[in-house]
Amino acid sequence: MSKELDKIWLSSPHMGGNEKKYVLDAIESNWVSPLGPYVVKMESELAKYIKCNDVALLNSGTAAIHLALKLLEVAQGDIVLCQSMTFSASANPILYEKAIPVFIDSEEETWNICPLAAEVAIKKYISLNKKPKAIIVVHLYGMPAKMAELTKLSNKYEIPIIEDAAEALGSNINNKMCGSFSEFGILSFNGNKIITTSGGGALLSNNVLAIQKARFLASQAKDPAPHYEHSAIGYNYRLSNISAAIGVGQLEVLNNRVLARRANFDFYKDNLSSIEGIKFNMEPEGFYSNRWLSCITLDSNKFSPDQLRLGLEKQNIESRPLWKPMHLQPIFREFDFIGGSVSENLFNNGLCLPSGSNLNNIDRERVLKTIKSLL
Ligand SMILES: *Cc1c(COP(=O)(O)O)cnc(C)c1O
Repeated sequence: MSKELDKIWLSSPHMGGNEKKYVLDAIESNWVSPLGPYVVKMESELAKYIKCNDVALLNSGTAAIHLALKLLEVAQGDIVLCQSMTFSASANPILYEKAIPVFIDSEEETWNICPLAAEVAIKKYISLNKKPKAIIVVHLYGMPAKMAELTKLSNKYEIPIIEDAAEALGSNINNKMCGSFSEFGILSFNGNKIITTSGGGALLSNNVLAIQKARFLASQAKDPAPHYEHSAIGYNYRLSNISAAIGVGQLEVLNNRVLARRANFDFYKDNLSSIEGIKFNMEPEGFYSNRWLSCITLDSNKFSPDQLRLGLEKQNIESRPLWKPMHLQPIFREFDFIGGSVSENLFNNGLCLPSGSNLNNIDRERVLKTIKSLL
């Protein structure tokens, strides 16, 4: 029997070195709780890095989106515009509040929400006397969305934006960090993201009072009283101090992680873009992507992304189709969709390649050799 090759993952956790020490320190100091010094430290370091006024650490990015919607007073029956091409966690919290998502197509350049389609949707719902309460913009695969155009829309119609930067920690436009452009930004520290706390997320804002309120809601909405007094419905959404200890270690190596992911992208681009029928999404002027995942699109007359994926799998290499747009998902099919077929085409023709910051040259050469042999 031939020895099986080591698995090459799409994106796996990559410890920096100090995480273990900090976790042990958290345990030895008995801060084994959903608050503590590592939570405070990670919050302040993140705020400094993103250049926003305050950050609340939460137990997931999904929880952060949910609280952003609550803080914007999104309620039953309200319209929320949401980028269709994304992971379902961007959209699910809209339904937690029984609000109504309207999905918006992507534009070709960044693959993110199309400002023109978003404006069509805004006008449509204003004319129906149902002005959208919020817009959920995603920086997909680390590529910043067109924030100048989107901010203009947000200001013109006075509709706040929630920036889903779950995949885009470290990405920026002209050095302004993703997650800091809007009323609220969110991050994720899930195991597959650019840095991890094993599971976790953050809500970012310049509105310090809003973040205070997020911390209140995220820790069961306890009013000040010696007994437990409640005048609001709370959630158990805070991040544990143990997880934050991992996060503090991970933040120390974040810049290296961004450079390593970008090097993966450059490697694939340099070695594959001469093949006709393979395309890479390039950064518009001033845009800086953390290249969380390196993605390609294939000319469907020449290559099948599915065959490529299955061929890679045979060599124990993980790859994945691009996100299936929400308006094509069974659970969201009843909701409105504004746009054309940009996101659908991306889904049909795209593939995410192994992109971990812990890939070495041998891994990348193996991926490259396999792709070349399959095409
Ligand atoms: C990972 C992810 C989320 C959710 O984050 P969790 O921490 O897993 O809840 C939300 N949006 C996008 C685009 C993501 O990739």
